[in-house]
Amino acid sequence: ELHNTLVELRGNIRVHCRVRPVLPFDHVPSSTPGSWPALSEEVVSTVSDDTVMVNCIKPGMPVHNKLYEFERVHGPEESQDAVFEEVKPLLTSLLDGYNVCIMAYGQTGSGKTHTMMGSQLLEEHSGGQPGAQQGIIPKATAEFFRMISEKPADSHTVEVSVMEVYNNEVLDLLAKDAQGNPAEQRCDVITTSNGASQVIALKYQPVRDASEVMQILSRVLKLRAHCPTLVHPDSSRSHLIVTLTISSKSPNALALARRLQSAKKDMQLAAQKEWWSPRCRRANLVARKSSEDHLFASTASSPSRSPSHSPCSSPRPSVSQALFKTKLQLVDLAGSESVGMSGVSGAALWEVSCINRSLSALSDVLGALAEQRPHVPYRNSKLTHLLQDAIGGDAKLLVMLCVSPTQRYVTESLQSLGFGTRAR
Ligand code: ADP
Ligand code: MG
Repeated sequence: ELHNTLVELRGNIRVHCRVRPVLPFDHVPSSTPGSWPALSEEVVSTVSDDTVMVNCIKPGMPVHNKLYEFERVHGPEESQDAVFEEVKPLLTSLLDGYNVCIMAYGQTGSGKTHTMMGSQLLEEHSGGQPGAQQGIIPKATAEFFRMISEKPADSHTVEVSVMEVYNNEVLDLLAKDAQGNPAEQRCDVITTSNGASQVIALKYQPVRDASEVMQILSRVLKLRAHCPTLVHPDSSRSHLIVTLTISSKSPNALALARRLQSAKKDMQLAAQKEWWSPRCRRANLVARKSSEDHLFASTASSPSRSPSHSPCSSPRPSVSQALFKTKLQLVDLAGSESVGMSGVSGAALWEVSCINRSLSALSDVLGALAEQRPHVPYRNSKLTHLLQDAIGGDAKLLVMLCVSPTQRYVTESLQSLGFGTRAR
């Protein structure tokens, strides 16, 4: 049982790595004929299902057979289906009452959008065949609605929101102006009293099935590419966040019981020996948090209960008043390549520094969580602030490191692998 508990605790942050295949566009003609090594040389390879090896041959930057270990490594030959199979168990956690976040990290061209969306999302939803090429977002959405369909009718409602973090501003991609045209709406992020992060004035669109979600997404993504008010030409310069918020009308007794039980188990664990003390501290935190109010998010309509009005009753909202809310956040991060600051100025400089700062803020947060440091600097950027309740506490986070296999991008790949290692 102790072992299981430890496994569970460690389960909060998982890091997977996906190495994409060498693709035709990797074969670039070398600038100096006969130069060595070839830029399209494959230098990142998978050695087992949890280890990836970098064998860089760049003169002046020798990295020989350097190994990186993650919870899971997906090789170039692995299909979208195979990758999704590894992600699927997280969806069960969602119905068990945990917030879940899946994010793709990597340099531009490493396969983030392919992994999260799939390469044919837009075509598919303009009438094409649904494909094996679909990424995590369409597959997870479909699977999620399938799971809900097995629950009592109307026990769950789902809403979708889509936002983009660009230049440290949160843009609501579902916002419309009075005429119903897309509107540029900047939103603020706050942390509510029960520890949830909330994006003010963000539009939540109720959805009944997966195809509705995909229609919304493909519309928004097209918009994003064409609508001048809504952005900037290059999707790799912003973080895209798709959120599915699930409210269960009748509180899921099973989920509740599980969470309380696991909290109790964690507390027992915490009371045990000191050799495991960092984990114990974390267990303590998890246990305390789980038993607090935020187990239930009050319905917006339920009156807020101040203790002075009901001095004798429990401070927690009662079960009948409450909605059990959890969210699934799916994140396609901005390209992690470091863009040189030299030669850029003004808006371009601001953009570059915003990306660098938000990704390093993310790295700091994941590092602090991995080391169980008492202070986690969520508020250093909008990105980490708005993801706070999806990556910290007892939420479950999967970081999918996307890596190009070739020599040309080895610096970026090493940086991504370092980011992933730090988060573990
Ligand atoms: P990113 O979003 O990280 O910039 P993309 O997902 O757009 O990168 O991938 C770049 C290109 O590589 C796209 O044309 C995509 O279809 C292709 N690609 C990425 N990963 C794979 C993969 N695992 N298998 C086949 N093609 C891939
Ligand atoms: Mg992309």
